[in-house]
Amino acid sequence: MKLGIVGLPNVGKSTLFNSLTKAGALAANYPFATIDPNVGIVAVPDKRLDTLTEMYNSAKTTPAVIEFVDIAGLVKGASKGEGLGNQFLSNIRECDAIVHVVRCFEDTDVVHVEGSVDPIRDIETINIELIFSDLEVLERRMAKTVKLSRNDKTAAKEYEFQGKLKKHLEDNQPIRTFELSDDDDEKAWLHEYSLLTALPVIFAANVAEDDMADEGASNEYVKKVRDYAAETDCEVFTVCAKMEAEISELDDAEKMEYLDALGLTESGLDKLIKASYSLLGLISYLTAGETESRAWTIKKGTKAPQAAGKIHSDFERGFIKAEVVSYDDLINSGSMTAAKEKGLVRQEGKEYVVQDGDVVLFKFNV
Ligand code: GDP
Repeated sequence: MKLGIVGLPNVGKSTLFNSLTKAGALAANYPFATIDPNVGIVAVPDKRLDTLTEMYNSAKTTPAVIEFVDIAGLVKGASKGEGLGNQFLSNIRECDAIVHVVRCFEDTDVVHVEGSVDPIRDIETINIELIFSDLEVLERRMAKTVKLSRNDKTAAKEYEFQGKLKKHLEDNQPIRTFELSDDDDEKAWLHEYSLLTALPVIFAANVAEDDMADEGASNEYVKKVRDYAAETDCEVFTVCAKMEAEISELDDAEKMEYLDALGLTESGLDKLIKASYSLLGLISYLTAGETESRAWTIKKGTKAPQAAGKIHSDFERGFIKAEVVSYDDLINSGSMTAAKEKGLVRQEGKEYVVQDGDVVLFKFNV
């Protein structure tokens, strides 16, 4: 699962990306640590894991991770091949969601490519490139579908659908806001086209340090971004990339002290990582033991055998049952034994839908 960080030059993308990858240094030991400097594997902050590690005296703690990709180089005209335009757009196509960084801070030392701070203009500059790119993809497809549609009813139906998408884009609307019918064909087609404006978006409003205390509530630029986001089905988070860069240099205790002094309980980055995770429809179930306490990533709605398959394919193939207790029940009971005595540990079968924070032990045949 990958999130692409996009935005105009000089809005703070790299600063944010570097803080993200540093803050997620924990993940550097991860088996699939990456070689590509523009891709960072970032740990998803989860206090529950620390508590489990303590309870079980685990030798190792392994958090869930998500990937962020720094997609630099988007400028006006990218969809027409300006700058690294096409390369840039194909990098976004490989992502599952977008973090769109917008400059909401004033700083005369940092040049703005358009000469002034105006987050809505900036957002639209990028959106237009994405819309152009989608239109191009769609038009190429329509040229093929129209030929087939003469003697093929399904193709005729697809052509009609493509026409509706095209109209939506021409009205300057992202596909994200297109109202899909219940038709399975339409869903499948849309998926197949991999349109950029269909991806979910989080705006990261990059504000000045002074704005962090009230999370940008009194910043006029942020207000505008919030209004814009509400109309286009996006989420907004405020961060101060510069401050996050400083925080990412600190150890955990220093970080808490720093945030405390500002009256914050969590860094903007941690919030952004968590929001990104849930934007992707992801949740974590947990396993705990002496060797390791670990968070496992699944899509919301995943059933027990497939969740077990995340650990090992044998677990899925030989699945018998799952022993499940919710994290809260486990912690409130004080230990697994106590939770069992209270009858809070359930035996769940193949149809069980695993929940966020379930502490699970799978039983399987080998
Ligand atoms: P990118 O081109 O979008 O990747 O932008 P960079 O991350 O390279 O940042 C461009 C410049 O803006 C750098 O000089 C940063 O130090 C500065 N910058 C980034 N974030 C902030 C911020 O939150 N506040 C201020 N004042 N400057 C920032």
